[in-house]
Formats: sequence, C-alpha cells, structure tokens
Amino acid sequence: MSAKPVVIVGGGGGGDATAFALRKKGYDGEVTILSADRDRPYDRPYLSKEFLRGEVELQKVFLHDEAEYSNEKIEIRLQERVVAGSLRDRTLTLQSGAEVRFGTLVVSTGGTPRRVPDAPDSYNVFTLRSLRDSQAIRDALERGKRLLLVGAGFIGAEVGASARQLGKEVLMIESAPVPLSRALGEEVGKIYASIHRDHGVDVRTATTVTEWHSYGGRVTAVTLSDGRREEVDVVLIAIGIVLGLPIEGSGVRVDEGLRAADGVYCAGDIALHPHPVLGESIRVEHWEVAKHHGRGIATSIASGYAPVTRLPYFWSDQYDVSLEYRGHAAGDDRAVWRGDKEALRFSVFYIRGGLMKAVLSINDTKVNEIGGKLIESRGPVDEKTLADESVDLAELVPTAAG
Ligand SMILES: Cc1cc2nc3c(=O)[nH]c(=O)nc-3n(C[C@H](O)[C@H](O)[C@H](O)COP(=O)(O)OP(=O)(O)OC[C@H]3O[C@@H](n4cnc5c(N)ncnc54)[C@H](O)[C@@H]3O)c2cc1C
Repeated sequence: MSAKPVVIVGGGGGGDATAFALRKKGYDGEVTILSADRDRPYDRPYLSKEFLRGEVELQKVFLHDEAEYSNEKIEIRLQERVVAGSLRDRTLTLQSGAEVRFGTLVVSTGGTPRRVPDAPDSYNVFTLRSLRDSQAIRDALERGKRLLLVGAGFIGAEVGASARQLGKEVLMIESAPVPLSRALGEEVGKIYASIHRDHGVDVRTATTVTEWHSYGGRVTAVTLSDGRREEVDVVLIAIGIVLGLPIEGSGVRVDEGLRAADGVYCAGDIALHPHPVLGESIRVEHWEVAKHHGRGIATSIASGYAPVTRLPYFWSDQYDVSLEYRGHAAGDDRAVWRGDKEALRFSVFYIRGGLMKAVLSINDTKVNEIGGKLIESRGPVDEKTLADESVDLAELVPTAAG
C-alpha cells in the first residue's frame, strides 16, 4: 500500500519542520507545502533581531537551500493561499480556484499582525511578520532617524532594541501600565521597561495614539494620549496577531498528538494543545514549539500516533539581556525568585498547587534548564529551597532510579 499524500498548509516554522521530519523518519509518500508567502521558509525570529540589524545575510535566514526541497522530494508551492477545504472530499481550494487533494493534512498557518483601526495606510507604517516586512523596515530605518513603536510586546521590544543598536531614536508606547506584564508578570515587565529606558528608549506606558498626522502619503507625527505631539520617521505597529484561520475561541482544538480530526493535524501558533505534561490546554506563539509540533506530527504520520510532550520553550534577546522561558504559567501562579535582580541574572519559578508550572530566566540558562526538568518531574517543590542560592538545584531533580 503506498503512503497517502501529505499536504502541509503553511511554509513557516511548523510546516517546514513537518516536511523535513517526515523524510527523516522515512516517510516516502508525496509531501507538498502550500504557502501564501512569496519566499521559501525562513527563520522568523531573526527578523526582529540579527537580520533587521544587518548582521546576518539573507541566505542564512532561509531554513533550507532551494535544492534541499527537490533533493528531499518536498514539493513547495509559494504564493498559494488556501481559501477553503472539504474534509469529506479531502480537498483544499486555492485562491486561484484550483483544487488540491490530500490524504493527510497538516495546517500551520500562524497569524497576521493585528492593525490599529485608525492607523493610516502609509508607506512608513509597518507591521512585522514576513521576511519582506523585515526588509522593508530595515530599509526605512536606514533612511529614518526616529522610530515609533506602538506596542511593547516581544516583537516591539526586540525591534526597539535593534533600532537602538543601529543608533536610532526610539519612542515606545504601550497601552498597558506595564509592558510584557501579561506574559511575564508585573515585576519582570517593570524590569524590562527599565532595561529599555537604560538603553535610551523613551518608554511611555498607559499611552496610546490619539491622532495621526500625515503629509505626502507618510505619517510625520502623532499626538499621544499624554497630550504631546511627537515627530516620527518610521512607525511599527506590534500589538499581536490575528490567527490565520477563522477560529472560534482561542485556537484550533487538537488532541495530545495535535490531531484535529482523522488524518488532520494542526501545529504552531494556531494549535490549542492539551499538553500531557502540564495537564492543561495551551496555545503558544513560540518558534521552538512550532518546530517541535511539526516533528511530533511527522512522527505520528510516519510511525504511528504519538502524543507531543515537550515543554513549551521560548527565548528573547534584547541588547545583552537573554530571556528564556520554559513551561506555561497563569497570572495567579505564585512567583518564587532566585538570583540577583540588580545584576540582571535571576530566575522566577511559577508554582501552582505545590507544582512548578514554568520558569523564566534572565541571563540564567543553567537554572532555566534545571527548572524545565523540575516541571517535567511533576513532583512537589519547596519554595524556600528553590529561592535558596546555596542549594544546588540539580540535586532536586529526581533521577531515573528514583
Ligand atoms: C519578527 C518575529 C520574531 C519572533 N521571534 C521569536 C523568538 O525570538 N522566539 C520565539 O520563540 N518565537 C519568536 N517568534 C514567534 C515564532 O516565529 C512563531 O511562533 C512561529 O513562526 C509560528 O510558526 P507557525 O508555523 O505556527 O506559523 P508561521 O511561522 O507564521 O508560518 C505560517 C505560514 O503559513 C502561511 N499561510 C498563512 N495562511 C495561509 C493560507 N491560507 N494558505 C497557505 N499558506 C498560508 C504563511 O504565509 C506562513 O508561511 C517571532 C515571530 C516574529 C514575527
């Protein structure tokens, strides 16, 4: 019996990883990637960091050389947007009207940046998701002197740091009282705001744009809710994404092996995954998670169904501050601190019901790795011991022998 053709919708982190992992695991059926993007899959995290700053060449940003797709017999069809599909008929409809048949379907369509409704459609107002967006922002920053960032989430904060490293003036406005507080909690959010201020970013929280001033097709200034008028050359709107599917609720419901229906899998930003280790359903927008989802789905397709168990992990680099995060915390989890806040080398453990749910680390990789093992062990943790720097945390990790 020949293997069923696998069609992957989305040529990003999850889609590309699925295709190559299928071959690695010996799957010899047809594999096709349909991607709305104009470019073959690339390393998205570079787009707000090294690529934006001109520190890595374009060739290094792509995940694979063009030849690798043909060598691995992966058909990649760019600028092909899927607009509809039928599970019963096992077909997808492309924007061109053409139909594509699938045996197994993998959907990893990520999201598109959310817009500010009243922001003008000017050529110096950008959002950032694609390689071309990053190239356009890079060009605009070469010509412009002052960047306005609307939104101080991870992407806004990383672009702000990159722009400062390029010697640009940066005005960062954020509607919340503390940046990144939803993702990292108030205290860490405040530390992040002060890191940016220390690097010369004008961070204004609890602030929004009340008026856009344009001239000759470009935004030249904004009036802010604090009443001040600010001249700007480049604007980046970075206020999160809208998922790339008409989804009700917070994502596509899948099972532990990322299966949404018989022979249909979802990966990456869109998947609402009942995580077998964390014991709760989570949807996260992280690069490593999308890639790991892709590899897990490939395992299920090539070798038989298997749950996807790896803990969520993400990192963010801003200036010389490296943040790492493992697991998944909720707003009301208890936070236990360890390390030196002033020296910017610390970790925060998030505890619920006596179990560790997540660990966030700033310039503290080793502790982050051990924290991940403690989460996976699912054993009770003692808050005082975690906070005590004289205790070697590695000794708290249960060994296989028990
Ligand atoms: C600038 C930037 C920096 C980031 N930095 C980090 C970081 O430092 N650390 C981290 O953990 N995460 C980071 N992320 C997040 C990470 O990149 C995403 O979580 C990850 O790319 C999600 O993978 P995905 O496969 O779900 O979606 P994507 O990688 O977005 O891929 C989606 C693909 O689907 C295609 N597509 C969408 N709709 C259709 C359709 N209808 N038909 C066909 N194709 C379609 C798109 O064109 C795209 O190719 C960053 C994201 C951005 C934008």
